[in-house]
Amino acid sequence: MFDLAAKTLSFSPIRHDPARPVALSARNVDFWYGEKHALKDVSLDVHENEVTAFIGPSGCGKSTMLKCYNRMHDITPGARMTGRIELFGEDVNAEHIDPPLLRRRFGWVAQKPNPFPFSIRENIVYGARIAGFCETRAAQDELVERHLREAGLWDEVKDRLNSPGTELSGGQQQRLCIARALATRPDVLLMDEPCSAIDPIASARVEELIADLRREHAIVIITHNMEQAARIAQKTAYFHLGALLEARDTRDLFADPRTEETRTYLAGKFG
Ligand code: ADP
Ligand code: MG
Repeated sequence: MFDLAAKTLSFSPIRHDPARPVALSARNVDFWYGEKHALKDVSLDVHENEVTAFIGPSGCGKSTMLKCYNRMHDITPGARMTGRIELFGEDVNAEHIDPPLLRRRFGWVAQKPNPFPFSIRENIVYGARIAGFCETRAAQDELVERHLREAGLWDEVKDRLNSPGTELSGGQQQRLCIARALATRPDVLLMDEPCSAIDPIASARVEELIADLRREHAIVIITHNMEQAARIAQKTAYFHLGALLEARDTRDLFADPRTEETRTYLAGKFG
């Protein structure tokens, strides 16, 4: 038996609250890449103002699930989904949905920091300009400062906003990418292993930032770091071979995994 909750982990003091509004709902989602059945009957709610961690072995469908939310699979040949996904009650696959507009309601943060090959300033302004807000220089300045502050990066970069974003350290680049994601005013942040390519100190800053951003957003984060899931996620979902085996309050899931697979995975991660 584990006593992970007591011994190894410090948990976020705020628990998952099923009463918080549902931001993303998935019902009976199956997904195929050609013949490959990558998601099997996944039903899951992601709640507003919460961090939901997706955990599980590599190749079990976590990234696939994130891409079902924002329809990133639209461009994958042979990809097919059945079931239903709603963003604040709206079917994301409905005929009237314009995929680029839908995608704008999500902020995406990738594993490897990937700033655009532009200045720090332009990294923030670019998406917002395409979205049609912040047309004047003053509005742009305001936007740049607001989101760099939000991402905890303003003080470090305010004197070199015209330098290339790619010249920042890895951790700073990742916070720049988060600021860039915020600048298009998304409803939901999707983060696919955002800390796996940055050092522990930079990771800690990103974790603090995620904890702050939860006040305004629903956040889904894929992580292989169980300590991180415990620290930042109110709810944790365990994926295994394409199936969602359990999704519960993080503390409960770690303290008393319901399936043998979850138990074994957690034991391997801590053992
Ligand atoms: P995870 O993020 O949990 O590591 P993924 O969602 O990336 O897993 O992958 C789930 C399964 O789908 C894996 O078996 C993977 O090899 C397969 N897969 C992922 N992307 C593609 C693709 N574009 N084409 C075919 N198979 C894919
Ligand atoms: Mg993945």
